[in-house]
Amino acid sequence: VNREEFEVYYQPQTDAKTGAFTGAEALVRWNHPERGLLSPGIFIPLAEELGFIGSIGSWVLKKACMDAATWPAHLTVAVNLSPIQLLDRRLVRIVKNALAEANLPAHRLELEITETSLIGNDVQALAVLNELRELGVSISLDDFGTGYSSLSYLHRFPINRIKIDRSFISRVPNDPDSVSIIRAIAQLGTSLGMKITAEGIETDEQRVFSAGGGCDHLQGYLISRPIPYKQVACLFAEAVLQKPAA
Ligand code: C2E
Ligand code: CA
Ligand code: CA
Repeated sequence: VNREEFEVYYQPQTDAKTGAFTGAEALVRWNHPERGLLSPGIFIPLAEELGFIGSIGSWVLKKACMDAATWPAHLTVAVNLSPIQLLDRRLVRIVKNALAEANLPAHRLELEITETSLIGNDVQALAVLNELRELGVSISLDDFGTGYSSLSYLHRFPINRIKIDRSFISRVPNDPDSVSIIRAIAQLGTSLGMKITAEGIETDEQRVFSAGGGCDHLQGYLISRPIPYKQVACLFAEAVLQKPAA
């Protein structure tokens, strides 16, 4: 963080019906001086283990809010939270400060958590999530379907959006079980008042299926890979210019 070797990439998300951009997910990268661009799958688990995730996570949050504040005002930014961050008593203040410093309205920030964050920490996690929701931030449940997929969690925690894990989407359309699971998650989530994102859309077939199967937002390589800030800012600005006047 001090050597400014981290960089935030953004993966655009679209409206499943119209194809218009709805926002982007912030995905951190480490520009290592010798090893090149490192993926978070390599260093996030280490950072969690070594106690650095708080400072990296706060930096990502701050940067993502600053960057999103320069995008057209209808677009949101999603930031991943490690379970350790969710249990940090300073989190609500860190989020509040990041929004204030960037002058970003809270409704433009989504925080992504996983079920692992909730297991065994119900009481504390619930209190933190309620405080975050009071700020006006929304909460997404990431990688849904891979963990416990507990219905009681969906019901008890203030969750705005479910992100269906890529492992199900990647088996569409050939695996009938995955097709059924996606439909069932989308129906269940929707009837509980949640929005649904399909992650890891790589083919047009997967896009069409997810849009028809009850997912309102799409994310995946078919739409765009994660890209640096400059590129995503250009993409969003161009899309606004191309949009026909309402
Ligand atoms: P995630 O939150 O599930 O993020 C989605 C991952 O799937 C990203 O990998 C993205 O590049 C990849 N992906 C997106 N679309 C496709 C697709 O169509 N096909 C395939 N095969 N992959 C796709 P990435 O950027 O390597 O991130 C890996 C994980 O690292 C993330 O998974 C997230 O859990 C974690 N991570 C990333 N940034 C942060 C961060 O700032 N903080 C924390 N705590 N975790 C982060
Ligand atoms: Ca995520
Ligand atoms: Ca995910």
